[in-house]
Amino acid sequence: MLSLKPLNSPASTCPSCHKHNPGFGDFQFLGQHIIGLGNCMHCAVFYYHNWPVGHGEQFPIAFTINGTAEFANQSALWLAHPLINMVKSQLSSSMKINRNVQRNINKGLLINCLDPCFGHIIWKLFTAARYKTLDPESGLVVLIPKQCSWMVPQHVAEIWEVEVPLSKLHVKLDGLHDFISQCPLNSLELVPQPTHPDHQNLPLKDFFKTEGFSLDSFTSRKPQITFIWREDRFWLRTKLEQWMWSFATKYNLNWFKPWFLLRQRHAIKKVVDLVKRTLPDAQFAVAGLGKAGNMKGVQDLRYLEMNTERELEWCALYAKSHFVVGIHGSSMLIPTALSAGFIELLPPYKIPFMTEDILMRHDSRFQLFLGRHLNLFCGPAMVAQHIVDAFQSFAYLKSNTEA
Ligand SMILES: [Zn+2]
Repeated sequence: MLSLKPLNSPASTCPSCHKHNPGFGDFQFLGQHIIGLGNCMHCAVFYYHNWPVGHGEQFPIAFTINGTAEFANQSALWLAHPLINMVKSQLSSSMKINRNVQRNINKGLLINCLDPCFGHIIWKLFTAARYKTLDPESGLVVLIPKQCSWMVPQHVAEIWEVEVPLSKLHVKLDGLHDFISQCPLNSLELVPQPTHPDHQNLPLKDFFKTEGFSLDSFTSRKPQITFIWREDRFWLRTKLEQWMWSFATKYNLNWFKPWFLLRQRHAIKKVVDLVKRTLPDAQFAVAGLGKAGNMKGVQDLRYLEMNTERELEWCALYAKSHFVVGIHGSSMLIPTALSAGFIELLPPYKIPFMTEDILMRHDSRFQLFLGRHLNLFCGPAMVAQHIVDAFQSFAYLKSNTEA
């Protein structure tokens, strides 16, 4: 197993001569990445490479300061280029770190959850479920942004909370390497962190502290539909709107934003009106980051800032929701882990990633019936039709499936 203490560093391939090198004796714990650095034993060029942990296991990256770089095209935009730019430009951010000891241990197994993407943090944290039983001397150590530490399971021995915005987690965190190097544990190993493990048998309550919706109560509860709100990605209704949003983002034209927010509120209200024609006792809520505009007639649990209490309030809302409705990438992991079903609006460019922000896990036909991906441009009428039809058909599906 890779280890920071004592050092057991990974082998790498030189980006210049493409020959194999054993682990370098020097490394830097930057934050999201751990990088090895040293001279190639074949061609003497000095290069950097990411350690194969988390996404680094699937996407090796090796590069020199003067331009030679080897990485998979698939990882270019979101992993390789940000890492290479960070090292070349020496981008860094200040942070504060707290060491919370839940249980005294000598040997630490480190799970590094630092990542600028909220969804990636959750997937990485799921590694903890694999290490519930360890010898008394050993324990899990979770390195995680402070705003996400409420999800850390109880069996974790130490939580190292980093106080830094997620938006800063793509750069080097000043002081983190020294903190890790000076940790008083006798050993600190790095456990493998698959980035998309099979979630079907994960103990999700350990992470989200809430029991999910029971399908046995689907027909006896008042219909509850919850919309997931974001103000940095929108329910765009046409290809023209998508083009306008891309244009506005590219050229930083913020004056477009209120119009997109208005259109998004109108789309949600239209779904509410249409569903209520058939299901008059249906209840609606909206949860998410941002507070733009009035959501009259809908329970409004949108906030500008989050804390643990609000996270748990949202979890309770998802767990009583028959459906959560959101755009792909709108932090849909927790909502879909706890609700009975979901409707996810999928932009065409997100089709290859359609499973990555979904955690729903029903048996047999229920998984297909309750988990619905619709084209982003489908419009409120189609979303409302799916919701109404699901409520009207569920009892028949259940009795037919379980007969
Ligand atoms: Zn070489």
